[in-house]
Amino acid sequence: MSYTNFKIETDADGIALVTWDMPEKSMNVITPEVMEELDAIIDETAADPAIKGVVITSGKPSFSGGADLSMIKSMFTLQAEEKAKDPAHAAQKLFDLVGRLSRLFRKLETCGKPWVSAINGTCMGGAFELSLACHGRIASNSKAVKIALPEVKVGIFPGAGGTQRVPRLTNTQDALQMMTTGSSLTAARAKAMGLVHEAVDPDKLIDAAKAMIKNGLKPVQPWDEKGFKLPGGGIWTPASAQLWPAASAILRRETYGNYPGAIAILKCVYEGLQVPFDTALKIEQRYFTEVLQTTEAFSMIRSLFISMQELGKGARRPAGVPKAELKKVGVVGAGFMGASIAYVTAAAGIPVTLIDRDMEAAEKGKAHSAGLVKDSIGKGRLTKEEGEALLSRITPSAVYDDLSDAGLVIEAVFEDRQVKKEVIEKVEAVIAEDAIFASNTSTLPITGLAQNSRRPDQFIGIHFFSPVEKMMLTEVILGKETGERALATALDYVAAVKKTPIVVNDTRGFYVNRCVFRYIHEAYDMLIEGIPPAMIENAAKMAGMPVGPLSLNDEVAIDLSQKILKATVADLGEEAVDPEHMALIDKMVGVLDRRGRKNGKGFYEYPAKPAKKYLWPGLKELYPQKDAGNIDVEVLKQRFLVTIALEAARTVEEGIVTDPREADVGSILGFGFAPFTGGALSYIDGMGAKGFVELCKKLAKDHGDHFKPTPLLREMAEQGETFYGRFDPYGEAQKAA
Ligand code: NAD
Repeated sequence: MSYTNFKIETDADGIALVTWDMPEKSMNVITPEVMEELDAIIDETAADPAIKGVVITSGKPSFSGGADLSMIKSMFTLQAEEKAKDPAHAAQKLFDLVGRLSRLFRKLETCGKPWVSAINGTCMGGAFELSLACHGRIASNSKAVKIALPEVKVGIFPGAGGTQRVPRLTNTQDALQMMTTGSSLTAARAKAMGLVHEAVDPDKLIDAAKAMIKNGLKPVQPWDEKGFKLPGGGIWTPASAQLWPAASAILRRETYGNYPGAIAILKCVYEGLQVPFDTALKIEQRYFTEVLQTTEAFSMIRSLFISMQELGKGARRPAGVPKAELKKVGVVGAGFMGASIAYVTAAAGIPVTLIDRDMEAAEKGKAHSAGLVKDSIGKGRLTKEEGEALLSRITPSAVYDDLSDAGLVIEAVFEDRQVKKEVIEKVEAVIAEDAIFASNTSTLPITGLAQNSRRPDQFIGIHFFSPVEKMMLTEVILGKETGERALATALDYVAAVKKTPIVVNDTRGFYVNRCVFRYIHEAYDMLIEGIPPAMIENAAKMAGMPVGPLSLNDEVAIDLSQKILKATVADLGEEAVDPEHMALIDKMVGVLDRRGRKNGKGFYEYPAKPAKKYLWPGLKELYPQKDAGNIDVEVLKQRFLVTIALEAARTVEEGIVTDPREADVGSILGFGFAPFTGGALSYIDGMGAKGFVELCKKLAKDHGDHFKPTPLLREMAEQGETFYGRFDPYGEAQKAA
């Protein structure tokens, strides 16, 4: 038989090599068609007496990314339809549907012929679960091989046998750690854990896999053998009695019970290890069905997988503008941000000219990259040659003429209108007529800066976040006159440096900083009310934020907050700023010289390492403290999420953000907005506009007018609308289709 997604070649020894190579896809994924074909291949190879065993590998550089999450997303739609049609049987139908992959893998491991998975590259999720169902697993020891069960990161969990096979191959603690964090393993680590049998050189992979079969690999999994013993001991052993209470406590500490998918992993493993394998798979299937019906799973898959991928692939890129081939990028300002922008650009293979006021400053900017390269070589992430090549792409300079052949120039000089004006004029005097100019400003509106430009349609904001090397998000800001080619070039550049872009219209603070400062200002309100600082920080983390607002303000620098508050007063008048906030920050910076981490004292104290930072005890002296026992922590949690979500909604109402996907992805990647919600707008959609408006009204009554629901939200509540319904990002595409 011939297949669309697989090729089968049987050698003289009777070993069938099944190569998974989906046409027109850069990576293999599990789709309904792939499942059907795999099912048929199991039947075909099992029935053919000439075939002794099967090796499955991939024809692409990676093995597979696992299940196609669009397929899982479609299950949500299906489930909603079923619920409306036949509520009594909807869950049963979903249960049957989600068990399909698990049943297929069980069929594979009990088909009577030995199967070996030859893992040639990255092998994730459902694809690793497929490999786990094979009787043998050989991984290439290439650096490119990453093995993981990362489902928890998008709100679900390994639901095709992963939660049962992993803890039957390795000790329970490692199994839980791998699945609840979703972290990647190298081939060597997977071998050490007992998850693969061998790690070999890439060119020996297929031979080693075939050799396993030739050497008599039994087509029976250890757990199907009589007398099978769990590698970590059973649930009722002394070791387990120590592990389990700690495991649930650790999960609670890390996730505050916000992630149904993570909790389900613990339940599946705990319950599944006490019963026979087929029953264990049923338990997993039940929990998977349950988790798939949660708002968290729906919203996380939508934002963290589908939307992120769509934005990364240029969902907002103007069609029809040819792709920008950036042969050279200029970066002006080799300070904190410019040096890092030069690094990520060079790391993407693009030559950079890095300009500062003098050669010494430019060289210093390049030295930042040299430090990063040295680290990466030390950690084995780059070879010496790759590191040298990267550095050779950065040319420090103090001469603007060196920018003459750059297709894109990004300025990251001081946050000062006059300095930026001079730089814009100097750059435009030397660059080509069709080159694009971008500003990395974090506070100055792009339209205003573009007034210094001779070609405002070629002027745009590309706002990176620090640390640039780690932050995945980039905000692309459109000035009033920014043209399509500037947008397309900016998005092509952002894609080249492997960041996820959101495209926003011009406004004070753009999107991310507007929301971030709402988060920080809510903490100021709480401090002023006398909420104990530790409670403020903990409530934020319990709400799902990765960093407490006071800690975040220390990182951003408290004097920067002061500068921004002052600039807001200068531009918009006294009433634009809460005088009590101003007094708090003036005291912190002006009187106490507490500027944040940068001067070793802020809301926190920063003792010499290895001691850890701790909240500055004097903070409690600034305001009379409330009794913690009388404070409702649930309300504190709501205040943080609601104030940010409201700001996100305002940006949509004002036309700053036009696509809900960008508001959601931007909030998670930009400042870690409680990822389990799927982002700031999904948080509102998830509870429904009506519920959100009610919550806003209650908070406004107790905690201030800034919680008042906006007209848009009230209208959405009345009409039962969602952001994704009202601002449907696919609307235009659907109309066109
Ligand atoms: P920085 O002070 O570390 O660096 C600025 C650099 O610009 C310095 O090296 C300075 O010598 C150089 N410079 C100043 N005038 C110049 C001129 N006329 N020609 C050439 N070089 C000149 O500042 P930074 O923190 O890197 O910020 C730079 C820009 O990035 C600002 O617009 C800031 O708002 C923005 N930004 C900063 C952050 C952040 O976290 N620091 C985040 C996002 C955006």
